[in-house]
Amino acid sequence: MRLLLSALSLILLPLSVLAAAPPHDHAHEHAHAHSEHSAAAAPAASLGSHQHGVAQLDVVLEAGELQIDWHTPAANLLGFEHAPRTAAERQAVQQLQAALQEGAALFALPAAAGCTAATPSLNSPLFETHAPADATHAHEHEHEHKPAAAAEHSDIQARYRFTCQQPAALESLNLEGLFVRFAGLERLQVQLIGPAGQQGLSLDTRHSQLRF
Ligand SMILES: [Zn+2]
Repeated sequence: MRLLLSALSLILLPLSVLAAAPPHDHAHEHAHAHSEHSAAAAPAASLGSHQHGVAQLDVVLEAGELQIDWHTPAANLLGFEHAPRTAAERQAVQQLQAALQEGAALFALPAAAGCTAATPSLNSPLFETHAPADATHAHEHEHEHKPAAAAEHSDIQARYRFTCQQPAALESLNLEGLFVRFAGLERLQVQLIGPAGQQGLSLDTRHSQLRF
């Protein structure tokens, strides 16, 4: 009987080794699956375009309606991506949320265009206020697993809609202010659909002009 059991365990051992392998494969797939820009609405899937310093900006101008979807790693705007742990971090998140509410100022819309902003929609795991259970977890995490916590990543998604009385005044937008305000932001990958058609642009501090 004992012999049979040890023979079984010899057979089973390779199986358990195999069973342990898939998480690595999964992580690998995950790292490569997101090069195409899709499913912007799904926060989990959106982590694929997550590259610190880079953000996506989808801009549509049609019949006086300007829509801007901004999708960025939280690190670009905050300098960190974990759930806020300290009073200073909580304050930084609150200040960022307040700044992101001011879309017209953020994107330097010209006053002459007479744009009225709808309430923006802001989405990020960092903007969710959690029950105390989560706070406790974050606290433990900080003390027991500091290196692991550094591996956390979070995105921020902000959607804006403006109705503009004089869309002709929206010849261009100068987005330099975004780079000035958010030191972690180095590049904006822009997909623009406007009166002149569709174009893809890469903006940075030195080339921050968006022409419709
Ligand atoms: Zn990250």
